[in-house]
Amino acid sequence: MRICRFDDNRLGLVREDRVHDVTDALSLLPSLRWPYPQGDQLIANLEALTARIAELAPRAPGRPIAAVKLLSPVANPSKVVAAPVNYQKHFDEAKAQTEVFNQDVKTIDKLGLFLKASSSIVGSGEGVALRMEDRRNDHEVELVAVIGRKADRVPRERALDYVAGYAVGLDMTVRGSEDRSFRKSVDSYTVIGPWLITADEVPEPGALDLRITVNGELRQHSNTRLLVFDLPRLIEYASAFYTLYPGDLIMTGTPQGVGPVVAGDVMEASVEGVGVMRVSVRSA
Ligand code: MN
Repeated sequence: MRICRFDDNRLGLVREDRVHDVTDALSLLPSLRWPYPQGDQLIANLEALTARIAELAPRAPGRPIAAVKLLSPVANPSKVVAAPVNYQKHFDEAKAQTEVFNQDVKTIDKLGLFLKASSSIVGSGEGVALRMEDRRNDHEVELVAVIGRKADRVPRERALDYVAGYAVGLDMTVRGSEDRSFRKSVDSYTVIGPWLITADEVPEPGALDLRITVNGELRQHSNTRLLVFDLPRLIEYASAFYTLYPGDLIMTGTPQGVGPVVAGDVMEASVEGVGVMRVSVRSA
C-alpha cells in the first residue's frame, strides 16, 4: 500500500498514478492529551489505518497525483537518524576531495550515526529552499526506512520486523566544516517522499537500485546491496544507543556522485520499488 499526505494534510492512497482521498480514516487515531507520546501517531496506528483505508478506497474520489502537493508521509517523527559515509565509493570520493568535504573523513564504525532536525523535513511537492548559496549545497539520494514500533536494542536478525515502510529521501547538505547535524538540518533539507510504501511491498530492501538526476543528468546511481552497514545493522546500531519510536526515519546513506544544486534545478530521485519523486530547488 502506498500512503501519502497531500495538500492541506489530506491522507491519500496512491493507486497507479492517482491519489484517493481517504482522510476519513484519520478518525481512528486516538485523541491525546499533553504530554503527547513520542513518535508519529499515523505510523503508530498504521495497521488499523491500513484496514480502514482499504475499506474507504473503493468509494474515495481519485485525482491525478501530479495535481496534488505531496507533503512528507511522516509528519512527526521523534528523530531523523542518518548514516554518514555508508557506501565505500562515497567514502572514496570524500577522501579524494578534502577541499569540498573539508574534514577528516572517518568510516561509519568510527563516526557512528548522526541526527537531523525534524524541522528540516518537507515532502517532494514542497521543494528545497537553499540557504548559504555562496557555499556548495549537495544532493544525497538515500533509501529511507520508517520505524513502525518502539525499538530498543534490537538485534539485526529481527530488525526488519520493526520497519513499517519505506520512502525515498534526500539528505540535502551544505558543505563545510561544521558538524553534520548542523549543515544537514537547514529547513527543507530533508525531503521524504513521494509517499510511504508499506514494508510488505518491499521484500528485499537490501537489493534496491537508487538514483538521482538533476535537470535530466544522471548524478548518482547505485544499489543498496553496496551499503557498508546494511539496514538491519543500522537499526541494531541506532537502537543500541537510543530507543526508536514509530515514525522515526532511518536515512541509510548516500552513494558516490554527490554534487551541487542551485536555484532553478529540478531533481528526480528514485528508489526501485519504492517510488520516484521530482523535487524543485529555489532560493529561500
Ligand atoms: Mn546522507
